[in-house]
Amino acid sequence: MKITDVEALHLRIPGVQEIADGTQDVLIVRVYADNGLVGIGEVSSQPYVCKAIIEAPRSAERRHGLRQIIVGQDAENVEALWQRMYFHTNRYGRRGAAIHAMSGVDTALWDLRGKAVGQPVYQLWGGAGRANMRAYASYLFGDTPDETFRLAQEAKRLGLEAVKFGWGPFGKDAQVDRDHVEAARRAVGDNCELMVDAGCKWDVATALARAELLKPLGIGWLEEPLSQDDLRGYAELCPRSPIPIAAGEGEVTRYGFEDLIERGVHVLQPDVAICGGLSVCREVSRMCQTASRRAVPHCFSTGVNLAASLHWMAACGGDLVEYCLRPSPLMRQLVRNLPPLVDGHVSVPSGPGLGIELDEEVIDEYRAN
Ligand code: MG
Repeated sequence: MKITDVEALHLRIPGVQEIADGTQDVLIVRVYADNGLVGIGEVSSQPYVCKAIIEAPRSAERRHGLRQIIVGQDAENVEALWQRMYFHTNRYGRRGAAIHAMSGVDTALWDLRGKAVGQPVYQLWGGAGRANMRAYASYLFGDTPDETFRLAQEAKRLGLEAVKFGWGPFGKDAQVDRDHVEAARRAVGDNCELMVDAGCKWDVATALARAELLKPLGIGWLEEPLSQDDLRGYAELCPRSPIPIAAGEGEVTRYGFEDLIERGVHVLQPDVAICGGLSVCREVSRMCQTASRRAVPHCFSTGVNLAASLHWMAACGGDLVEYCLRPSPLMRQLVRNLPPLVDGHVSVPSGPGLGIELDEEVIDEYRAN
């Protein structure tokens, strides 16, 4: 099975707003093979930049575009293709947008591989699989604790057994923060896993003080209390925090996650569409198992990312995925058979590859170029 083409499809809804919603503007990757099969992946980054990284022609050694690097190659060995892309982009890659773009290609290659052998990705990876995965949804904190309470009630009505709140007014004042989290806890009850995303706002001393303050409210994890680059800070904070510390939604490659694990981060959160793709996610799960840590996908884009995250979790013994509730048609309609959220759970697609199908009408309507 030879790769014949790689397509970077930029989809964009009209009037993209500067809000924390990755479902307004997305990059879908399709990898074509000479037997007629097509693999689908997604990149959750700057779509114009990552599209250029895929489409760029041959340059000097180790500065090529991704399509140039893999067209004509055998599609069988996905991990060898990952290494090939990594090596041949390393003058401008290794981290950042080049790895984001590779995420879409890598995930499409796994989809293709599954389709070629007629197996869902989780089975291809030897996972016993779970038909159903527990899901959590992410909400922005309300402007007031009352509003946070109402949002948390909505989450409870959806049957969610795990909910995350973050950003918004959170992080500026200890008492206000506690009031918001207390309101959320009151609304969801004691049996719901409640996580808090601090949005990289604090230094180590503030993070420790907040962790102590929020501990009585039963927080599942405290996410990104420090800058993503404050690795020394994480090394100081993690062993002392009374609440598990989560990080890694912006991290790339196994090397980045190895570093976070060594610094003591308890919950690792690779995003399939950012970190380097499914190949990296599988490796992170292996490292987490060895180091007794937890891997939970960050997933706030389309159903392509959701499906990939589900296969990864089902194959690697995971128990939770993030489910994006944004109303964008790119989240709700792009994948025709989007796995729905039912009673706080979502089913793992059972078809070959990722088990999803794109809606060509949605692609035609929102195609940016
Ligand atoms: Mg986050």
